[in-house]
Amino acid sequence: MNHIKHLKCVICGKTYQPDEVDYVCPDHGAEGILDVVYDYDVIRQNISRETLAGNKDTTIWRYKPLLPVEPDSPVPPLTVGGTPLYDAPRLAAGLGLKHVWIKDDGREPTASFKDRASAIAVVKAQEKGAEIITTASTGNAAAALSGLCASVDQPNVIFVPKSAPQAKIAQLLVFGSTVMLVDGTYDDAFELCLEAADEYGWYNRNTGFNPYMSEGKKTVSYEICEQLGWDAPDVLFVSVGDGCIIGGVHKGLKDLLALGWIDKMPRIIGVQAEGSNYMAEAWTRGEDVLTKPPIQAETVADSISAGLPRDRIKAMAAVTETDGAYITVSDEEILAAIVVQARGSGVFGEPAGAAAYAGLVKAVEMGLVSPQDRIVVINTGNGLKDIAGAMKSVEMDGTEPYLVKPSLEDVKRALGA
Ligand SMILES: *Cc1c(COP(=O)(O)O)cnc(C)c1O
Ligand SMILES: [Zn+2]
Repeated sequence: MNHIKHLKCVICGKTYQPDEVDYVCPDHGAEGILDVVYDYDVIRQNISRETLAGNKDTTIWRYKPLLPVEPDSPVPPLTVGGTPLYDAPRLAAGLGLKHVWIKDDGREPTASFKDRASAIAVVKAQEKGAEIITTASTGNAAAALSGLCASVDQPNVIFVPKSAPQAKIAQLLVFGSTVMLVDGTYDDAFELCLEAADEYGWYNRNTGFNPYMSEGKKTVSYEICEQLGWDAPDVLFVSVGDGCIIGGVHKGLKDLLALGWIDKMPRIIGVQAEGSNYMAEAWTRGEDVLTKPPIQAETVADSISAGLPRDRIKAMAAVTETDGAYITVSDEEILAAIVVQARGSGVFGEPAGAAAYAGLVKAVEMGLVSPQDRIVVINTGNGLKDIAGAMKSVEMDGTEPYLVKPSLEDVKRALGA
């Protein structure tokens, strides 16, 4: 991989060759997440905006020279990436804004953003000849790894809290993963998975541990900028749990700036649930995320429930280095956003997906965006992932179906009422 200069510890800045370390900086343990540093001169020889324009591959692999994999490594057959960026003029008008787009990552093969990272994990594990891949997850990273592994017949072991939504657990079982339902929180599942991976020598996909997961997630920024004709948006809204997505969004934009493919860094706004607000609290109070203790996380948006965000260092940098912000939204605001976003754009998000839109609504109220801003909101997960959440959303909204007998009379009565 001559396009990679080295891996750099986000804490001490020490650098390593990719084959020198397994996942994290040996001096800093699980906190010492590594950032992949590229040689952009090498990358430029293999990809350009012009070659992309002629590339018919619409998946994340169209950006392969920018990804941390060998050029000739086989990739899984599921089509990851290439998700739509919908212009949402009605949502924009409703908020007094000019331009709002929804990037719909509910359209990934296992219906969440996590496929972007899990696709990379499968390739890296196979490059290493790993027999088993493992991850802990609130649900979506697990489903993503599970589905991607099924597509290439790769054995895997998954750790999820037993409270994960049924749909996500169903995905794991349908795809044939070995599933450990952990009687505890996501944070407990994470620690247990690290221990088991260590014990058995499994390939570890864990978010905020494996340095390559941000690299898959960064492809969303490439797509958004390419879909906007390389005219980067002014502001991006992304929901934040462990902080790997927001770090990846930032990394993708940094790559594009370094290559000279975009000419400004958008502001990145991280949206957290009030009940899982570690990053927002640290940002508001100016706290050091290396020493800030875990919080008790509780929110309807299970995918962004994280007491100790694993990728918090990159997640903080994404906001501070882009003149962005962290904001919080209540569970009520998240649930309200599900129907508003769905009716205003046709994009049905799970709670953590619609949280980003709830964040935009909040940001408008707070004056954090201006009417002229070109704004992209990332919907990270499909609404069908969490039917209980969706039903709470319509209940709150007061929407009810009519119960009718199979007679036109009854329909007339219902419509007349
Ligand atoms: C994982 C996830 C997030 C948050 O991503 P982090 O990297 O944990 O911050 C947001 N929305 C959905 C639907 C997710 O699955
Ligand atoms: Zn270090």
